[in-house]
Amino acid sequence: MSNENNAIHGFDVNLICDFFLNTERQGPGSPEVTLKALSFIDNLTDESLIADLGCGTGGQTMTLARHAPGRITGLDFFPGFIDRFNADARRLHLADRVKGVVGSMDALPFRAGELDLIWSEGAIYNIGFERGLNEWREYLKPGGYLAVSESVWFTDERPTEIHDFWVDAYPEIDTIPNKVAQIHRAGYLPVAAFVLPETCWTEHYFAPLAKARELFAAKYPGDSTAEGLMAFQRYEEELYRKYSEFYGYVFFIARKPNPRRTPCPGAMPCSGATPNPGATPNSGLTPGDGTRSRAADR
Ligand code: SAH
Repeated sequence: MSNENNAIHGFDVNLICDFFLNTERQGPGSPEVTLKALSFIDNLTDESLIADLGCGTGGQTMTLARHAPGRITGLDFFPGFIDRFNADARRLHLADRVKGVVGSMDALPFRAGELDLIWSEGAIYNIGFERGLNEWREYLKPGGYLAVSESVWFTDERPTEIHDFWVDAYPEIDTIPNKVAQIHRAGYLPVAAFVLPETCWTEHYFAPLAKARELFAAKYPGDSTAEGLMAFQRYEEELYRKYSEFYGYVFFIARKPNPRRTPCPGAMPCSGATPNPGATPNSGLTPGDGTRSRAADR
């Protein structure tokens, strides 16, 4: 489900919600990719607290819940998605540790430092990648993980048609090295980054969307808004089929440093070990080349 904050391209939000309620997932991805991302995360126990931000109807949350210990809170803007999320959690006998709540990713209902893992597939763009990295960090424990999928350019240059489409839809789309640098600058350790296979778009996203469109067309015959939404989706798919070598989704896995477990080598103490008034708030380690923290330590 792309680009909700653009007034959803002028479409009615309830209509969009009604459409996506018929889909297992609302963005590119797959159970295999969810599990691959999970394989990089090594801190989880039965006591862990996990948040899935922008969980949608929760397809990936249920996969996560079946393979990871701990309690999971799925959070999404749309009450209809959360109703389906909680119904699925009950049906899968996961409701004792998986719960959906209505909320916004820019005002999280968690305490600072309480989360072991923040998950977000195809949703951080709603708040913006850099803003999400910086704001969500505070909710992670030291040593906690962030796992997010995000749209990226695969190349430095690309045809104008696809460039213009994305810059209009999501100006923060960027290359993989630039995204990794943003993760680093936001004070995380970049742990892994991998490209989602094309089947995450074709089989797991576009094909179910085409099925949902059949149901939708029968439900709203002649409705111009519904037709506009469906035409937009067909255009998105056409663009992907034409330009998939230029863009796609990447899963980024990052860890919030744990200063007690990460002593700085060398003579100079790092800001995680020594309180440093010049350091970035909450960063534990000072991003950048270290010049600033050394100057401040003098
Ligand atoms: N993670 C799901 C859904 C991705 S679509 C999947 O991979 O299938 C993006 C989701 O973000 C939608 O469900 C949308 O309702 C939600 N969303 C958009 N803006 C939001 C916000 N400000 N706070 C919480 N959720 C939001």
